[in-house]
Parts: sequence; C-alpha cells; structure tokens
Amino acid sequence: MIKDILEKENLSKEDLLKLIQIEDPQELQLLLDKAYEIKLKYIGNKVYYRGLIECSNICIKNCRYCGIRKGNENVERFMLTKDDILEISQWIYENGYGSLALQSGERNDSEFVNFIEETLVEIQKNSNNSLGITLSLGEQTLDTYKRWLKAGASRYLLRIETTNRELFKKIHPNDEFHTFERRIKALKDLRTAGYQVGTGVMIGLPGQTYEDLVNDIIFFKENDIDMIGMGPYIIHEETPLGQEALGNILSDGKRFQLSLKMIALCRIYLKDINIAATTALHALDPLGREKGILAGANVIMPNATSKNIKPKYQLYRGKPNLNDDAIKGKLALEKSLKEVGEEVVYFKQGNSPHFYNRQK
Ligand code: SAH
Ligand code: SF4
Repeated sequence: MIKDILEKENLSKEDLLKLIQIEDPQELQLLLDKAYEIKLKYIGNKVYYRGLIECSNICIKNCRYCGIRKGNENVERFMLTKDDILEISQWIYENGYGSLALQSGERNDSEFVNFIEETLVEIQKNSNNSLGITLSLGEQTLDTYKRWLKAGASRYLLRIETTNRELFKKIHPNDEFHTFERRIKALKDLRTAGYQVGTGVMIGLPGQTYEDLVNDIIFFKENDIDMIGMGPYIIHEETPLGQEALGNILSDGKRFQLSLKMIALCRIYLKDINIAATTALHALDPLGREKGILAGANVIMPNATSKNIKPKYQLYRGKPNLNDDAIKGKLALEKSLKEVGEEVVYFKQGNSPHFYNRQK
C-alpha cells in the first residue's frame, strides 16, 4: 500500500520504484502531500529566490539536447558586458532577492575565467558581500572553481543530466569533452573547493526508465548533494536529440507529472536539501513553479535578464516570460505563491540547510 510506504522513515529502492510509478490521482496526492509535509518540517512554508542572469549563450560544448549547443548555427550569440551584469545584480540586490545565479554556455578560456572572477568581486562589493551567489557555468578546473569561490560565489549547479551511463552517452557527443567521468570529477572538485554542490537531471528523456530516475535520486543521496535543480526534458527542434525525440517521448503532461513526482521523492528521501522549481516546469504549465513548490521544492529562480536578451537564450522551446519584464514577473509570482500558502523570504540567502547540517 502506498500509504504504508509513505509512513516509513527510510525508503528502499523498491519503495522509490513503487512511488514513482503511481498513476492513481488520489495516491499521487498522498505522495505530494507527504513531500509538502516534510518540506514544512525542514524548511517551513518558505520560498527563496535566486535572480537568474543568463550571461552568455556562447558555448564550446555540443550537448545533443541543448538549443545553444555549439553546432546550432541559427543562434545569434551574445555575451553580457560586466556593466550589464552589475546592473541586473543591483536590481536583484535592491529588490531583496538575497541570492542570484549566473548561468551561461560553457567556456574555459582565461578571458572568460577572469571575466567571471572580476564580475563576482564587483557584485559582492556592491552588495556589501550580502548576496548568495550560485554559478551554473559548466565543467571547469578545480583551480577555476576555487578562484570563483574566493571571488564571492558559494554554490554551484552542475547537473549530472542522467546517471545511466548508456543514456548519458546517447545524449552527448561521443568525445572526450562530454564524458560521464568528467562530469563526476567536476562534481567532486566542486565539493573539494567548498561549494554547496547542486546537481540534477532531465526528466522524460527518450529511453529513460523509472529505474533510471530512481537511481538518480539514490545518486543524489550517495553523493551527499546539497541542492537539486531538475526539470522536464523539453524538445528543441534544432538539436539532434530534439529530432529523435519528436513523437518519441512522453506527452508534456506526463513529463510534467513525472517531474513533480521526482521533486516529491527527492524531498521525502533527502529531506533538508534545497530543491528548485525550475523554469522548465513553468514552460510546460503556467503554474508549474507553484505546483513544484507544493510538491516539496523551496527555491525559484525568476529570470532577471533583460527582455531584449532573453529570446536568444533558448535551451529549449517555449521558454516562458520571454517578454515579461522582471518587475511584473516578480509581483505576479509573489501573489500566486501567497495564494498557495507560501511566503517569499526577502533579504536572506536561503542556503542549503543540508550543507550546514553536514558541517556540524
Ligand atoms: N552550460 C551550463 C549551464 C547552462 S545549461 C551547463 O551545461 O551546466 C543548464 C541546464 O539546462 C543543463 O544542465 C540541462 O540540464 C538543461 N537543458 C539543456 N537543454 C535542455 C532541454 N532541451 N530541455 C530541458 N533542459 C535542458
Ligand atoms: Fe552548452 Fe550547457 Fe547547453 Fe551543454 S547544456 S550545450 S554545456 S549550454
């Protein structure tokens, strides 16, 4: 019985496999309610924001699922200037978000590494070192990770994408830059450098099984992950995987539901970590992020990048809010979160409790 499984303090792999396959709406509600109960216990009815700045869509990688992969010649490439980033950071700071996230395509040339380092120092100078800064800038060397941490970042998101190595191979080009081992090494280096380490997966990839997803959750636990950012895989038709996936993946509704189940299972299984309700959830459902919060997530990354740039940063199709300005998006989101009983916490970083509990 689902109810009995949800009463257990520690779930086995078999339990997780049963729960992820729930189809009955009442049983699904039991699962989501349990996850929300645990969220309330460990985090409270609180949501933390990270203002998301999409710094650049220039990328040296060619991930087969991603719209801004190097091989996509239809993309007009851009890179924000330091002043652009500082201006958006200032807006985030003044609006009390408490945290921001810098994301971009992957580059590892010294010009880029220096640019990020200098920008981090200035952002923190302008905010009296009060912002929690998350980076999502791909695989880098341990030395680069250390430099960026010292310059002011404290968290890093690098998704493992899938822990099924065969599937990982299928969704990436077959070369030395896109290996599973490199990704694992990068996650280890992030821990060594001292970050709150975040990872995650895409949900509903072609060929991905329930067991794969359960193994992903177990991987998060075994690697003592502090934060999770995961969401549905969404087709971008100008990509090789997008072409293969057309007509060959679960429906939008099913991928959305599976993503909610994944959030709920992660909350139940991992308890005190930070979990983001990601933009990709929002792309499949206008209330996707709110539903993600009610399934156990506690972090939202509202897009703060200015509106004339966002259309060029399309990892997948149908990215929401492309023409909304940041302020309108902020107020609407706060209101709809209030309606579901959640409070947005301003002027606090909202670090991963798990990270600090581990240090004790
Ligand atoms: N270049 C960095 C950060 C930008 S990509 C990196 O790769 O880590 C951030 C995430 O976007 C990726 O980890 C991937 O999980 C997600 N993503 C890319 N293409 C996607 C797609 N088509 N559908 C859903 N998520 C996608
Ligand atoms: Fe580049 Fe990240 Fe997209 Fe891969 S997922 S192509 S590293 S932006």
